[in-house]
Amino acid sequence: MEKIASFQVDHTKFGVGMYISRIDGDAVTYDVRMVKPNGGVYVSNPSLHTIEHLFATYARNSEFSDKIIYVGPMGCRTGFYLITRDTMSGEDAIKLVRDSYRFISEYHDEIPGCTAVECGNYLEHDLESARKDVLPLLEKLENYTVEMLDYSWHMSRN
Ligand SMILES: [Zn+2]
Repeated sequence: MEKIASFQVDHTKFGVGMYISRIDGDAVTYDVRMVKPNGGVYVSNPSLHTIEHLFATYARNSEFSDKIIYVGPMGCRTGFYLITRDTMSGEDAIKLVRDSYRFISEYHDEIPGCTAVECGNYLEHDLESARKDVLPLLEKLENYTVEMLDYSWHMSRN
């Protein structure tokens, strides 16, 4: 079998940030990277799960809701995939993730969808960790530009 596109990016060359990993027709996939790949520190499953509920809820209630195809965690526990329509600009995608992560960092209420009826593992959540785990990327995105969404921008600087 052929290597899929996301395995062809050298994961040793970049850290916390947001990157376009592939474009399929009108669907743009962003890697929303919260910790450095293979950095020895990963987002715990309960925290990742809580971030998933809050990130998806925020994104799907935002002004960009009709442009969001999917939000979901990476199996390696280093971040999230965000898939949008290509009608959403890179600037708006950065804004959406920044706003979502700020929302999570300040969230104190009940986790949405956190019942046995709505979720496949509703007891496995950790809001306290989630609020802290979003901070490194949130800080990184404060001065993020559209050029930085391109993996090659980072390759030439490392
Ligand atoms: Zn769930």
